[in-house]
Amino acid sequence: MPMVGRVGAVATVATLAFCVWLLGGWGSEDFRIAFEDNVFVVLSLFATGCAAHTAFRCRGRQRISAAFIAIGLAGWTVGSVLWAYYEWFLKVSPFPSAADIAYLMLPLSICIGLLIAPVGASGYTYTRLTLDGFIVTAAFFQIGWLTILGGLFEAGGASRFAVGVALAYPIADLLALTVAMLLLGRAPAPHRTPLTLLTVGMALMTIADSIFVYMNSHNDFRLTGYSSVGWALGLLLIALAGLCTGVPQQRVAGERSFSQVAMWLPYVPIVIAIGAAVARFGTTPGMPPALIASVLLIMLVLLRQFIVVAENRRLLAAVAAQAMSDPLTGLANRALFQDRLEHALALHRRDNRQSVAVLSLDLDDFKLVNDGLGHPAGDQLLVQVAARTLARARSSDTVARIGGDEFVVLMEGDDVASREVAREVLRAFDEPFVVDGHDLLLRPSAGLAMVSADDAEVSPELLLKQADMAMYAAKRSRTPGVHTFSPADVSVADAPERDRTALAYDSTVAYKLLGQLRHAIDNQELTLAYQPKFALGDGSIVGVEALVRWPHPDRGLLAPDQFLQLVRDHGLMRPITELVFAKALDQIAQWRDLGLLVPVAVNVFAPSLSDSTLPETVGRALRRRGLPHELLTIEITEDLLLGNTEGAREVIKRLRQSGVRVAIDDFGSGYSALSYLRELYVDELKLDRAFVTTVLVDKRAAAILRAVIDLANELGLTTVAEGVEDPETAALLRDYGCQVAQGYLYTAPLTPAAMLSLLRSSRQAPDEAISS
Ligand code: C2E
Ligand code: CA
Ligand code: CA
Repeated sequence: MPMVGRVGAVATVATLAFCVWLLGGWGSEDFRIAFEDNVFVVLSLFATGCAAHTAFRCRGRQRISAAFIAIGLAGWTVGSVLWAYYEWFLKVSPFPSAADIAYLMLPLSICIGLLIAPVGASGYTYTRLTLDGFIVTAAFFQIGWLTILGGLFEAGGASRFAVGVALAYPIADLLALTVAMLLLGRAPAPHRTPLTLLTVGMALMTIADSIFVYMNSHNDFRLTGYSSVGWALGLLLIALAGLCTGVPQQRVAGERSFSQVAMWLPYVPIVIAIGAAVARFGTTPGMPPALIASVLLIMLVLLRQFIVVAENRRLLAAVAAQAMSDPLTGLANRALFQDRLEHALALHRRDNRQSVAVLSLDLDDFKLVNDGLGHPAGDQLLVQVAARTLARARSSDTVARIGGDEFVVLMEGDDVASREVAREVLRAFDEPFVVDGHDLLLRPSAGLAMVSADDAEVSPELLLKQADMAMYAAKRSRTPGVHTFSPADVSVADAPERDRTALAYDSTVAYKLLGQLRHAIDNQELTLAYQPKFALGDGSIVGVEALVRWPHPDRGLLAPDQFLQLVRDHGLMRPITELVFAKALDQIAQWRDLGLLVPVAVNVFAPSLSDSTLPETVGRALRRRGLPHELLTIEITEDLLLGNTEGAREVIKRLRQSGVRVAIDDFGSGYSALSYLRELYVDELKLDRAFVTTVLVDKRAAAILRAVIDLANELGLTTVAEGVEDPETAALLRDYGCQVAQGYLYTAPLTPAAMLSLLRSSRQAPDEAISS
């Protein structure tokens, strides 16, 4: 047993023996007085020493706190010395006396010491603690006064000073006791044992003091033994509290939020005090109504306080929950996801049994929904996506939204099951979403990364990054289904091409680029490249497609995919479209003036199609240059036609009535291509590059392409194959009945000057143009 433990044990045994003696009352009167007084001097000295020892061992606020308790105990020691002097030498037992002042130092110092002690849970202010202490003390005092003390002082003819001292004991004791109890309710574990000892010690002292006051004011000393036992045990416990105060290592981690009981504790005595007052005065005839009203007021204020406290607790809980959830969808947010992921990986490290999988989902073309239908519609869509994802995941999985349209699912357990969940989540997107009355078919790109049972350690960041890289790989390859991470995806993610696309996504870069882009648009610095379209039949040029370029001061010539996202994100679509129209039509007019009548195709963002003034604007632009409407084709991207089909249909109809041709771009890359064919009347289908390039190797793709070309021919639509890169593909497409082709086989997009010379040479010899 360590030294401290032995000292405590000896003190306890000795004190208990003393208590037995006190109650037994052996020995002569003189001996008893002398022995008792001396034991109290020794006992209080011992307690003082214990507290001083604690002050010596601790630091900071805890040291000051222990020092105050030591001072209080020293006061009590002085009191007991004085008392011994009175009883032993002067043979009197005065009340009140100077000894009482010294004794009273103990509860007051304990009170101050406790308020200084660094044990209260954070957020609980000391002002409130002190106020609570006073409230409870006042309430207890009222209870005491109404039940015993009041009658006592009415009966006895005690002096004012005597009344004051007699009242000071219960008030000071109760104050210290209350503060001790309130702190105990909030104390973190390491402080609880000493505080409990101190609190119980203080309670015993309070009882003993009250008996003492009662005896002196009633001149009835039969209970002397009990008050002495109270003091002896009280001192012992306070001494033991000092002995077992541990020196805190650091700030105590994980402070427990204080209990309900600790919260309501201060109110209980108030209610009892009011009850006592009502019991005492309730029957008194002629009670002033104002008094009743006051009591009522207090009760109502109390009730209000209860409600406020309860509301605060609810608010706190809500705030805590909100810090962990995404406000829009109610899913977990990034913080909570991160936390769960760390926890899952920690478990994985420890048990090495369960695998941990992260599924990363990014909605394809979500931006277009936001731009086309507005942000509230985008929000609705996200909420639906969240609900579906959540419904398909297991209850043990964590589904989180960690960015605008990025969702992640954390899955623990068996690999096979995790894969199945991932597939299941993806199947949730088979049905269209209904937003604002529109059916939207929207798919996510999905990447899965996992650490299996016997994999080496993986950090949470790395696992999430792998899932993202897998997702990017899926997005790039445009393959449906879940793409599981493989080391090859790292090169995909880091390839320069991906960096190119990512350019506009990096926020700091994007910010700078945006300013430069605005400037470039204002100064008409964007240029156009032209890619010719060739008739598969005779190789003649049937038109050109205008493709926007940005000659960037530092980055060179930028292609659309490096800045179009920025255009969409920042509402620059209209100025860009206007600029492209103006330049393309100027170019056509210029070529016409040189005797070359070339049809031109211009790409238009789908949202611009719901602009009902588009046909008029386009018509004016053509007329101003004296160009026939038939020379212009407007290309719209098929999956851009999500949503507002009604408005788009009307605009398309008016454009076509005016003679302008309309083409569906990237046909086959979206999901409900055929339904658009039924709904929209257009002139041309541009078969998507991804479709065309696989046609030689993929039998299914070839069959579908053939069917689509047949169908288009049936409907009287021109079919244009994009991205034709080799003669075999061109030959196959011609066999299938496709009329027009465009692609690197013939030429990449050209500068206006290069395009002009190609036009000139091809006019003379169309077949040579193809082979050049
Ligand atoms: P798009 O309308 O499908 O344009 C064809 C794209 O395919 C062009 O890329 C062209 O350079 C490329 N391409 C042509 N032949 C081949 C080939 O044989 N193989 C391969 N791999 N690629 C080929 P570009 O110029 O980078 O344009 C990308 C997209 O940007 C366009 O796709 C179009 O959707 C959009 N875009 C371009 N200009 C404009 C514009 O003025 N306004 C709007 N709204 N969008 C534009
Ligand atoms: Ca196009
Ligand atoms: Ca295209």
